[in-house]
Amino acid sequence: MLDLVRINSLDDFLAHHAATATVRSAREDEEFSLVQESDLFTVPAQCYVCARPRHLAVRFTSEERTANRLPNWREHLLCPGCRLNARLRACFQIFDSMGAPGTIYLPEQRSPFFRLLRERYGTVAGSEFLGPTYCPGQKNWRGLRHEDLALLSFDDASFEAILCFEVYEHIADYPAALRECFRCLKSPGLLMFTVPFLLSSQHNLTRARQRPDRTVEHLFPPEYHTDPFGRRDVLCFHHFGWQLLQELTAIGFHDCHGLLFWSRHFGYLGQESVVFFARK
Ligand SMILES: [Zn+2]
Repeated sequence: MLDLVRINSLDDFLAHHAATATVRSAREDEEFSLVQESDLFTVPAQCYVCARPRHLAVRFTSEERTANRLPNWREHLLCPGCRLNARLRACFQIFDSMGAPGTIYLPEQRSPFFRLLRERYGTVAGSEFLGPTYCPGQKNWRGLRHEDLALLSFDDASFEAILCFEVYEHIADYPAALRECFRCLKSPGLLMFTVPFLLSSQHNLTRARQRPDRTVEHLFPPEYHTDPFGRRDVLCFHHFGWQLLQELTAIGFHDCHGLLFWSRHFGYLGQESVVFFARK
C-alpha cells in the first residue's frame, strides 16, 4: 500500500528510473484520471495520521495547468482533518513506522506537524526563526523559541532525532546547519529531512548566495517560499542534488540515503517525492 524505494546515489536513481518505466507510466495514467476540471478538487484516500478515509484537497489553477501537466501533488492533497499535505503525511507515516524515537527536535513550532508530533510522542522541542534581533534560545511573548539552524543553542548530543522539512534550502550556509544538526544529535541518532531535490542531478544548484556583507546575490530568478507565518518571502538559496549525501558523509553521518515514496491508498502521489535519512 506504501511503495518505498531506497536510493543511495545518482547512479542508483538512474538505474531505478530505467527499470520502472512501465510502473511509472501506469501511475501517471492513474494520476491523470484523478485530475478534475475545477481549480479546487478532492481525491479520496486513507489518511494515515487521522486513521480514516478523507477527501484530500488539491488546488490546480488554470495558470498551473498551463505550466504543468499534473498538480504538484507532493505539496497538495491536504487532509481536512490533520491539515497535512502529502509530503508531511508520508513523512509522519515513515517516521512513525521506525519505532519509539526518544527526544525529537524540529526547527518549526507553529505548524500542525509540530503539534502532531508533540501530541503523539511528547518529548518534542521546536523553534522558529524569529529574526536577527533574537538570540538563539530566546523566547518571544508567545513562548516561541528562536533558533538559527546554523548556530543552535542546544547542548551537544541533545536529541535522538532531528526532523527538518523544507528548511536547508533557505540557509545560505547550509553546511553549517548540517554540522549543527550533527553536533546536537546523540549517537545513535537520526536526521530526517526533505528539501527541493533534483533527482537527476549529481550537483546542487545554487540559486542565490550571500556576500560577506550579508547582501544577497541572485544567480537565478529569485524563488520565494511561504514561511509558517504565511509570508511568501522566504528566499530559496539552493536546490539540492545527490552531492548532498556525500556532504553529509563528510560531516560524519553514515547510512545517508533517500526514500522514494508513492501510494494511491494513502494519497501520496507525484512520482519524484523523496525523503532523506542520515544516521549519527
Ligand atoms: Zn489527516
